[in-house]
Amino acid sequence: MSGSDEKRSAIVTGAVRGIGRATAIKLAADGYQVVVNYRSDDGPANEVVQQIESAGGTAIALQADVTDSEQAGTLIEESINQFGRLDVLVNNAGITRDTLMMRMKEEDFDAVIQANLRSVFICSKAAMRPMMRQRYGRIVNLSSVVGQVGNAGQVNYAASKAGIIGITKSMAKEVGSRGITVNAVAPGFIQTRLTDAIPENMQGAILEQIPTGRFGEPEDIAEAIAFLASPGASYITGAVLPVDGGLFMAS
Ligand code: NAP
Repeated sequence: MSGSDEKRSAIVTGAVRGIGRATAIKLAADGYQVVVNYRSDDGPANEVVQQIESAGGTAIALQADVTDSEQAGTLIEESINQFGRLDVLVNNAGITRDTLMMRMKEEDFDAVIQANLRSVFICSKAAMRPMMRQRYGRIVNLSSVVGQVGNAGQVNYAASKAGIIGITKSMAKEVGSRGITVNAVAPGFIQTRLTDAIPENMQGAILEQIPTGRFGEPEDIAEAIAFLASPGASYITGAVLPVDGGLFMAS
């Protein structure tokens, strides 16, 4: 931690389920004070906070739609008011609106770009100033292997996740000298609400191609995020870490 005895603090966007939830729980277990961001329903967010608190950790739930720059700005501000500092931002919130391009409406394209890519820009921009003042920060963005290899039926999602790789590398170059690292994880098929929608016969075909022989769990991604968010990862920036059981290993 940089020059203070306060506990480090972290914000995880979209932290009420799936990868975000697992990440909030992992970071709290690692000793961070955690902001569990949710979009609308505070019930599941409070459950995550309770789970963290009953394990001895510290967390609060804060509402913000991360596609709205005012709400994102308030999220960052309120987090700092509550915990005194901001060390880690995990840009996890994301959506899908899958369909073949021929049928994809412009609003489906725009909604996914807004939720997945624009949110990374506005949340990171708001977090950057306090992190620069601290001369310490870790930003971890959720990309996807789909952003690197593409996927039929997901031109909007793949574009957003490829965009996240570009924003990650560019931000890393801008803020590296200020003690701030910016990295991305690229999950493969992780068992969450997002992948439950894949038909069973397709799930079987995918499984056959995964060298580790299983789909990922949200906790597998949380471990990788926690590593990139840790002080020890200070010499890693602009990286895109695949966490996919070897499915898309580069040749
Ligand atoms: P998930 O279970 O659907 O959770 C996504 C979370 O994001 C939900 O809590 C959702 O809140 C929140 N969210 C969406 N839009 C938001 C907004 N505008 N403001 C605030 N919160 C918002 O998804 P997941 O599978 O855990 O995925 C998490 C991240 O990993 C996403 O960025 C996803 O693209 C990426 N990823 C996932 C996989 C996978 O296999 N699952 C693979 C590669 C990448 P609501 O409850 O309000 O909807």
